[in-house]
Amino acid sequence: MPAQDVSIYDTTLRDGTQGEKINFSAEEKLRIARRLDEMGFHYIEGGWPGSNPKDIRFFEMAKEYKFRNARLTAFGSTRKAGTRAESCRNIKALLKAETPAVAIFGKSWDLHVTEILGITLEENLEMIRDSIAYLKKRDKEVIFDAEHFFDGYLRNPAYALKTVKAALKAGADRIVLCDTNGGTMPPELAEAVRKVAAVVPPQKLGIHAHNDCGLAVANTLAAVQAGAAMVQGTVNGYGERCGNADLTTVIGNLQLKMNRRCLPAESLRQLTNLSYYVSEVANVRPLPFRPFVGGSAFAHKGGVHVNAVAKRPEAYEHIRPERVGNHQRVLVSDLAGKSSIAFKAREFGIEMEDREAVSKKIVREIKRLEDQGFQFDAADGSLELLMRKITGAFQEPFTLQCFSVTNGKTGNHPSVCQATMKISVGDEVELTAAEGNGPVNALDHALRKALMKFYPQIAEMHLVDFKVRIVEGSEGTAAKVKVLLDSRDGQEMWSTIGVSENVIEASWQALVDSIQYKLSRDRLNKNEPQATEG
Ligand SMILES: [Zn+2]
Repeated sequence: MPAQDVSIYDTTLRDGTQGEKINFSAEEKLRIARRLDEMGFHYIEGGWPGSNPKDIRFFEMAKEYKFRNARLTAFGSTRKAGTRAESCRNIKALLKAETPAVAIFGKSWDLHVTEILGITLEENLEMIRDSIAYLKKRDKEVIFDAEHFFDGYLRNPAYALKTVKAALKAGADRIVLCDTNGGTMPPELAEAVRKVAAVVPPQKLGIHAHNDCGLAVANTLAAVQAGAAMVQGTVNGYGERCGNADLTTVIGNLQLKMNRRCLPAESLRQLTNLSYYVSEVANVRPLPFRPFVGGSAFAHKGGVHVNAVAKRPEAYEHIRPERVGNHQRVLVSDLAGKSSIAFKAREFGIEMEDREAVSKKIVREIKRLEDQGFQFDAADGSLELLMRKITGAFQEPFTLQCFSVTNGKTGNHPSVCQATMKISVGDEVELTAAEGNGPVNALDHALRKALMKFYPQIAEMHLVDFKVRIVEGSEGTAAKVKVLLDSRDGQEMWSTIGVSENVIEASWQALVDSIQYKLSRDRLNKNEPQATEG
């Protein structure tokens, strides 16, 4: 059966920025828009030019860029009550964005019309008709977002349908049914979509679902099954309250499970990368449990599963991770044997053929370190470095000569920490000092400062999490601590570990591993540009 096409409408740059802690500058928006365009997204909603100067600036900048695949879309509302479309400020701002497509939202729930806007039901229909007809006259592709459609349909189906029919008759190219409050269940939603599909041609029908019941993706897929041919959502599901439908999951499911064509196969292989990229620009930690694209999506722990996936990956994997640019991971713990190590070596791209002795040595070393409190299933970055060191596939990027950290506190003022550090790279010695709000922060600053001139790519990486735990079975003030660091750059996230009785020493170990990991990855990627994707 040939795949049916579904258009992907991304609203990360508009609805996504309604999410808590999600903010993009106009420049960042343009970077994301270009990335989505390159991947073949069909529509990119860039913002609401009527609502803020940043979005106006984004659309100004976007005029200089030629989108190859996507239709850039400006978002706004229907005209205000009691005005005409041609004289409405919002509609003028939409036109000024000079995009090929515009999306306007209008009310489909009678409660919003009479109780919130305080206008008559007929006036609302007229606002929809007038706004769409005017924008069509100005040669725009018009997408009508039927706001609160499903809540409205449940309470007053006749009126909800009237708003949709009014939009269609006025010339709307797409009618998008919105589950604005995210409270609709999939069977009711599908039923409503089927009813609308009887009056709106399905190729014009779209879905916009919010995730307040954890059902945004399920509702989106149900709507497609019921006839919708356009899906709206955001990368990583960013959006207000519990977010929007996560397009990485929606696309994965539509394309790999439901035989609907959304993106070219080579773009599908960039899905994991896209997810990391957008969380990087948003400066939000990537969620490891995200379906398809998360770091844990294809991670296996425990001997039986590991043996099984080694024989037949489909035993515990619903798809081959490479299809979405992800990869299989094995979480190695002290239960690990040689087969897990061989597996891990393949994952890291470390040559291990016929090296029985090396493999034994690695297992011995892991067991010894885990006995001291290291925990490698939580620190893949440190594990990869350890294996590279033992197999001889590692070059020290720098050597520490010495460091010292001081912590000063005066009265009620916060503590100030200073770190001084001497390192060498080849024959060159570098001496630096830096401040921080804590000892680890000061060390991190000093080390980066010292290394920056040798390895400028360090600027791309950030620490995203820092956890200190007591090593089990070593209670008291002389207890051992383990420090776990999560770091990321635009490509991936990695975890490293350090263990010591001294929290600064443990932090230092984890910090050095993190930086060494970043530098060794960059070196590998440079040598083998094809080798890693995601
Ligand atoms: Zn929304």
